[in-house]
Formats: sequence, structure tokens, C-alpha cells
Amino acid sequence: MKKKMAYLAILSLMVLLLLLGWSQDKKGPDNFILSGGTILTMEPSQPKADAVWVKDGIIKAVGTLAHVNQLAGEGADHIDLKGNVLMPGFIEPHTHPVSAAMLSQALDISGMAFNSREALMSFLVNEISGFQPAPWIVAYGWDPLMIDDLRAPTLAELDMLSPDKPLILLSQNMHEAFVNSAALKAAGIDHDTPNPAHGRFERDADGKLNGMIFEVDAIARIASAIPTLPKAYAAHLLRQQYDRYARAGYTTIGVLGIVGRVEEPLELLKQISTAIDMGLRTRVWLSAKDHDENDIKVTSPNKRFSIAGVKYWMDGSPFIGGAAFAEPYANTDITKHVMRLDHGHSVLPAYDPVVFKKVFLKHHKAGRNIAVHVQGERAVDVVLSAAEHAQKIAPNANLIHRLEHNALITKEQLERAKKLGLEISFFVDHIYLYGHQLEHIVGPNRARRYMPLQTAINAGHDISLHGDHPMTSENPLRSVEVAITRFPLRGDRVIVGSEAVSLDDGLKAITINAAKHLGMDAYVGSISVGKFADLVLLDKNPYEVVPQDIDNIKALQTWSDGRRIDTRAWRYSNIKSQLKAFFDLISG
Ligand SMILES: [Zn+2]
Repeated sequence: MKKKMAYLAILSLMVLLLLLGWSQDKKGPDNFILSGGTILTMEPSQPKADAVWVKDGIIKAVGTLAHVNQLAGEGADHIDLKGNVLMPGFIEPHTHPVSAAMLSQALDISGMAFNSREALMSFLVNEISGFQPAPWIVAYGWDPLMIDDLRAPTLAELDMLSPDKPLILLSQNMHEAFVNSAALKAAGIDHDTPNPAHGRFERDADGKLNGMIFEVDAIARIASAIPTLPKAYAAHLLRQQYDRYARAGYTTIGVLGIVGRVEEPLELLKQISTAIDMGLRTRVWLSAKDHDENDIKVTSPNKRFSIAGVKYWMDGSPFIGGAAFAEPYANTDITKHVMRLDHGHSVLPAYDPVVFKKVFLKHHKAGRNIAVHVQGERAVDVVLSAAEHAQKIAPNANLIHRLEHNALITKEQLERAKKLGLEISFFVDHIYLYGHQLEHIVGPNRARRYMPLQTAINAGHDISLHGDHPMTSENPLRSVEVAITRFPLRGDRVIVGSEAVSLDDGLKAITINAAKHLGMDAYVGSISVGKFADLVLLDKNPYEVVPQDIDNIKALQTWSDGRRIDTRAWRYSNIKSQLKAFFDLISG
């Protein structure tokens, strides 16, 4: 036994030394020319180039190889792109790294993992009766719109699954949850607990809690009872999440509300985004849940970590009845039996228009950029009126106020938003995940204008696309594919082909436009002289594959500030298999 331990210790040391050497090697030169592939700059004045010169983390020249060589002079290393495709690093304008990191540890009960209730429930029975060291059992991805027979669990079922330990089943859209009695008790929620301002603890006909929890504030109340992870472990999970972004080709992320519980999340995000071996810039919009909203201090977007402003939710998810649509939800089997909505269900925006005008003006005057979650027309209207009011009283064209998701924003609202300088970011994966269900949720007429990307472009918007992780997996090119094909995962037909955008517009939406929405387009988002050398190398040219294959294009390498980022997963998530590979190597 001792011998084995000693052997393992020596082995680990050797691996560490090897990895250290490797990572040193990966740092690469700080003065180099990239050429020998296709270079898509996303810069309209010079969309293609043969070579790029990078020095001290900055793009110094872009153009023909001769031009770039001449400017670089002697001393620059040459890196051969070997026929691959270089683009500016992808930019995710709206994501939640902390909750994505934490939920990476949850049991996966999503529509990607299961296609029947029975299979999902037996999985839960097996997992929960097995070894569960964590104080709570967290499962993520409950999705009755993807799993046809997935009726909601009763409190009795949840208590049977886990009689003593708190259990939470979180829906895919994170706007709904099912909890057992132990979880309600741990969160101090009983009979007499009033509903929070934005959300509710559902009760049955006798007024008894039934374990169903709706909307962000109510879920936050439950989540606040889950013990936070030890700091070092939370940091480890967040690093893994940053690795996932980098492997998908992202070099910058916008955090739109921290969402998810760790101690001192801002410190943690800052620590990781500024770590020498990390490849991501991070810009944060804080919500009132994260921070005292009157104490949010905006910082410059040229830093690797910065604060942009404040995030609000004006309505909830369309897929659990939370969107503030102008007209009620459609009355169908899906809304009645799957979503369990009342006949003629509709909801109001989360804020009274007069109250929100004041809130908006306060942040606007304080120089904070404001981003608001809006799905329904009524939610959009509240924000448009508030923005109009603020711009009238204190005109400021430099602030970037954003409308997020925009499921049913109208043409007129898009035109009004353009006049007010509001930016539009779409969550186009709604089409991918739920396109086949839209008609059953909003009816055929409204389904025909769902996620109106092309209408927004026609209204003059530079739209961006976001993945809103953990709601979807990290794959910016899948969002682009969905934006140009409008083809859902389930079902067999295009969802509103007239709103499909061009590939040019799709790629701009994850690069230069997304940079603009983060207020960072002077520094990142295109391969242009003077910008940071944040780059991604792809194995195929998006312009040369059929649209259905765009999401299969792989990111081979990313550079951040001109540093090669090692995105291979050896550092944390894959350390065991790396050890095994090394063991096989020396024993074979
Ligand atoms: Zn979000």
C-alpha cells in the first residue's frame, strides 16, 4: 500500500512537471505573424486578410503577407494556420457562469438526456438512493416541452424520492422548480409564508404548499437555503466553466446578473477572469439580488474584468406562463395540461411602469448601463417608456441599455427601440429547443413573429445572439446556425423562415455586434489594428459548409491578449484520464 502511495506521489509529481513544461510551452511568443489560412476579420472595410501581426497582445497589422511582414520587420515568429480559419474570438453577450458552474454538478434531467417520464424518474430513484455526499440533492433540466409525458411531480412523489434530504428539481429555463418537504422546511417556507414580489410558492385548493415554485425571486428564496460550496471548490468549478467557454471559442463573456450562489461572486469572477492562464474577458451587469444596486460602480471595459451596470427582469419565461404578452396565452392541450395554465392565462410586467421609470432614471443618471429581460410586448413597453423618459430628462447617447431575449417584440417596438438607442440581444435557441411547440403556446399568428431577428435588422439594429448558459450548452455557432436556418431540434419544419438572417449577420451577432452590446467594440470583436489579440481558430470555414453543419465547426485554438490559451481539459476536469494516459504510456 505504502509503495503504491509513494509510486503515485512520484507519478503525480512527474505529471505536474510535465504539465508545467507544457503550459510554459503553450505561452508562445509575444511577437508573431499568423498566416497560411483563411482570415475572416469581421471588419467591413477589410473582411478578409492573408496575415495578422500580433505584438505584446495587440493586433499591429492586418492585410497581405507582404504588408504585414514589412511592418513587423525582423524578429517576429511565424505561425502557420495550416489552412484553418481565423476569426475574432467569439463574444457571449449574455450568460451566467456562476450558475452554469454550480449546475454542472447537478443531476442532468434535461430533454437532451431523457425522452420519457418513466426513464427520468427511475434515474432519480437510482441516483438519490445511491451515495449522495452533498447536503442537498439538486437536479437540473426538467422540461415538459421536450419530454412529452413529463407531468409535474406531486409533493408526495418528491417526498418519496427523498424523505429526509432537501431535493430540488430545477426546470431547464430556471424559472420553475419542484421541491420536497425537507427543502421547504430548510428554506423556512410554510403555510403562512407570503409569496415574494416576483414569484410564488404554489398551494393546492386547501391552501397547502404543493412543492411547486415559480419565478426567479421564489426560486432564489429556496436556493438561499442551500449551503454555499467551500470557496476553493466553487473556484474550481468556475474555472471548469471558463474552460468550457474557451473550448467553444469564446474570448469575452457578458454576465447578465450573477444568478447562482457562491461566496463573494464578484471577487471570484474577477480572480478567474484575470488569472494568467485564463482566456476570457468578463463584463458584468449586476442585479439587485447580487449587490446593493445603488452602489454599483461602473468600470472601464478595457480591463479584463469590468462592471457595466445593472440587470432587471421585467417578465419571466414564456415556457411556464411567465411572459408578459399583450394577449393571453393560447388555450391548447399544451398550455392546459403540460404548462398547467388557466384558461386565458396572462401575466403583468414585473414592475409598475411609473415605478420602473424612476428606477431606470436613477441608474441612467448614475451612468449605469441597464439591461432588462423582456419576452412579451407589455414587458417591452414598460422598458421603452422608461428609456424614453430617461433620455428626455438626461440625454446620454453613451450608455448601452439593452433588451434581452425579445421573444415577441413587435416591429413597431423594434423601431422605437432603435430611435432610443436600445440594443437588441436575442435568445434564438428558443427556436432550437421549443420551435416545435410555439404554435401551441402562443397560437399560429404570434408564432409567425416569434424571435423576429430579420425584422430587427430591417429596423436598423445590430443584433447580438446569446446562449444564456446554463439554459443551453456552450456553442455560439449553433446559435448562428439556428438564426440562419430557423430549424428546431424536434419537429421537421422551418420555424418562420422570413425571420432567418444571413450568415454575415449571424456571425456579426456573436462577434462585433456582441462586443458593441458589451461596450467593448473599441477593444475586441474584430481583427483590426489596435484591438486586443483575442482570436479563435476554426477547423472549417462557416461560408464553405452547408448551414446544417455550422454547429459542428470546432474551435481548435483561442488566443487572449495574444496568449495561446490551452483549452484542452487536462487542468481540472480531465486530470484523472490524463493520469491514466500517462500511466499507460510509462507502463506500456
Ligand atoms: Zn439570463
